[in-house]
Amino acid sequence: MTAYLITSVSVVGAAPTDLLIRDGVVAEVGPGLSAPDATVIDGTGLVALPGLVDLHTHLREPGREDAETVESGSRAAALGGYTAVCAMANTSPVADTAGVVEQVWRLGREANLVDVQPIGAVTVGLAGERLAELGAMADSAARVRIFSDDGHCVADPKLMRRALEYVKAFDGIIAQHAEEPRLTEGAQMHEGEVSTRLGLIGWPAVAEEAIIARDVLLTEHVGSRLHVCHVSTAGSVEVLRQAKARGVRVTAEVTPHHLLLTDERAESYDPVFKVNPPLRTAADITALRAALADGVIDVIATDHAPHAVEDKECEWAYARPGMLGLETALSIALDVLGPEWDLIAERMSRTPARIAGLTGHGVDPAPGVPANLTLIDPAVRRTIEPTELASRSRNTPYARMTLPGRIVATFLRGEPTVLDGKAVK
Ligand SMILES: [Zn+2]
Repeated sequence: MTAYLITSVSVVGAAPTDLLIRDGVVAEVGPGLSAPDATVIDGTGLVALPGLVDLHTHLREPGREDAETVESGSRAAALGGYTAVCAMANTSPVADTAGVVEQVWRLGREANLVDVQPIGAVTVGLAGERLAELGAMADSAARVRIFSDDGHCVADPKLMRRALEYVKAFDGIIAQHAEEPRLTEGAQMHEGEVSTRLGLIGWPAVAEEAIIARDVLLTEHVGSRLHVCHVSTAGSVEVLRQAKARGVRVTAEVTPHHLLLTDERAESYDPVFKVNPPLRTAADITALRAALADGVIDVIATDHAPHAVEDKECEWAYARPGMLGLETALSIALDVLGPEWDLIAERMSRTPARIAGLTGHGVDPAPGVPANLTLIDPAVRRTIEPTELASRSRNTPYARMTLPGRIVATFLRGEPTVLDGKAVK
């Protein structure tokens, strides 16, 4: 194993120091370190963060390897500063058995670019009719702790209650895609002034808020754990604020795109801006940013959703919802939050690692800690070129936008996955 000496680097925004990585761990932290056998990386001007952890990634394998594979998505993640991602279950076949979650977990180990933690489906085939083999997935080699039908809402309250009860036995979490399906039939974008003007069927904020309100009550009743995926409305923030104040064990995530882009993007009819839940209003963005700062929203999660060209470059009504996120998330966070490194580390690494139970991740670089970390150059501004992304898909909403920050290096257990801004393998 090669040793790495990173000199004059700011660890989570603190005064510059040196970091020595050896044998998979951070061996020493302090000024003026020397290690003759180590490869030296000049960290001047760079910020070291614990490797980012994504609670919400779609890797598309098995089934849609033309859009993404575990390997290509892992590489995109490493280039985005991630050392662990949670892979959503809406693959083909669905990850609703021990066999499929173990397959995804094994593919992640083989790629060895980030730790891939599979999320299991809540219901068989995501059909919302009967519970999947939650216990078998939890007991499998993949040790699944988070279950989600993401892409679909677990709409049946009785099924949701039973799922929450079931995972209590092993302190599991149900991650809900909150969307009351009867309220979003045929929906194409956020329901509001813009949808009225464009004549597109709207996805009302209340369809999300009603499910979150119901689910926090069910979670409170059962005494279980709930995670709310991609919170997108100001009303949802208020429901969560009240639930947390009562002590309900609920956590919540927001995506980079819901922190930055509004429903006015739909005026272009460019399907790259079609996403579920949809882009909302400027007032929602203001509320989401405030909730991220004050902790009502715990985590930034990408909802990285690669789609093949034929599923995305078509008429708005036929395009699949979803956008890429892994390679741009840190830049969006920096743009939205500014250089608030401790907050960024909290929302993008420490807290998601804790929610997912990923030991060894989300820990600030310190002697003896597994060397899962990323180096960021905050001074660089880069223009996003879709063709330069490592994802197999091209559906980034940030094409040709200039964003702050660049990932210079990422280390997974002491081995670089990214160096000089490029994937090592
Ligand atoms: Zn979703």
